[in-house]
Amino acid sequence: MMRGHFKCMAALLLLSFLSSLIHTEAGQEIPGQEIWYHTGYPGGVEGPRRGMSALTGPTKMPAIFDAVWRNRLVEPKNLHTDSPAVQGRSPAAPPIDLESLRAAHTDRYLKAVLTGEPRNLALSQGLPLWNQAIARGWLLNVGGLSAACEAALRKRRITGNLGHGYHHASMDRGMGFCTLNGLAIVALKIIREGKANRVMIIDLDQHEGNGTADILLGEPQIRHVSIYGSYMGGPPAAANNHVFQVQHGAFPGETERDANYLSITSMTLPGLLRSQNPDLILYQAGMDPHDGAGISARALAIRDAYVFALARSMHIPVTWVLAGGYSDLDTLVQLHTGTVRMANEVLARVKPGDRVDLRGKNPYDWSVQEKVVIFPDWKSILNKNPGISRPDSMTDAQVQEFVAARQRLFRDQRLPKEEVQAAYQGLFLVKP
Ligand SMILES: [Zn+2]
Repeated sequence: MMRGHFKCMAALLLLSFLSSLIHTEAGQEIPGQEIWYHTGYPGGVEGPRRGMSALTGPTKMPAIFDAVWRNRLVEPKNLHTDSPAVQGRSPAAPPIDLESLRAAHTDRYLKAVLTGEPRNLALSQGLPLWNQAIARGWLLNVGGLSAACEAALRKRRITGNLGHGYHHASMDRGMGFCTLNGLAIVALKIIREGKANRVMIIDLDQHEGNGTADILLGEPQIRHVSIYGSYMGGPPAAANNHVFQVQHGAFPGETERDANYLSITSMTLPGLLRSQNPDLILYQAGMDPHDGAGISARALAIRDAYVFALARSMHIPVTWVLAGGYSDLDTLVQLHTGTVRMANEVLARVKPGDRVDLRGKNPYDWSVQEKVVIFPDWKSILNKNPGISRPDSMTDAQVQEFVAARQRLFRDQRLPKEEVQAAYQGLFLVKP
């Protein structure tokens, strides 16, 4: 009986192995980009235009998803969503589990986020109201990011979550419309579960990823890189926290400003990637350098292509998330779908092992010639010293003190597990 079962299993395994070979050899299976999106994500509420990335989820995220679907930017089977509009879709991801939440945020804060009380803590991110659907949306958003990361690792390709990274949320409170820090939660989860040994978060939002740094400073297996224009109060640079402030204002002309931004990006990322050699990159593809610092849409498009190409050339899977962007809705849809398009292009044109070379002359063009991916030599195009400032660094002793203070805070705000569990389950007892 048992032997028959094993034979059957072996035959099945052999069959699936052969069919995967056939697929690859016939060149049928193009490694397409996979995207996660749940219609419950927004977790936002109707609100003013400012802060719309978080506040007007009901318009921004569905509009981007709709553009992805309508323009067939991703195959239906690679869209993991509950949206009934998509025929042939895969299921969306479940909400993030409580254990992963508790590894990044304090119990006291989580209970507030999950129950809405105390109100000032539940709304510390700046939203005008709390309800269960919004809270479920935050959990679904992180759940989608987690599923996208796991698929990227498993399939070694580019995946994305049409939700946000929420990089301003720190361990014990929200900030800047960010409630739960998905980047930190998922990076810690992947490490804890042994799915990766090293993770890099590349945050190219206009604003510094202060919350992410707060939660992850001193975590040896996770490296946080934030190249920003606006400082948000995060900790200084440290062995695993690389922060670069771009002086956009030093360059009044658009092309120079773009070349400055892109030269700083291209001067910093390759070395950081080589020295950490991460198993996965979480890429926060912020679009607010456009409205916040006057960086052009085409500069942001080639920025995304550069990040994806660099990662692919080094065999590193990437999961991207949306972030900041406060223009009108049409511009935002264009900007964010640009990330999706660039991921597609890079997957189609760049092969793992290709070399990335900075020698192009046009600041917005890239090409692939005989295994060399040619990006512009932005530093030469700029022909000036890049406008960059490096915040102070922390000593190892200061990092240890920072980590100890964080651990004290976690201890001080700990609640009985059953209490947090009840708050988590309470969200799902009532049907949406
Ligand atoms: Zn931002």
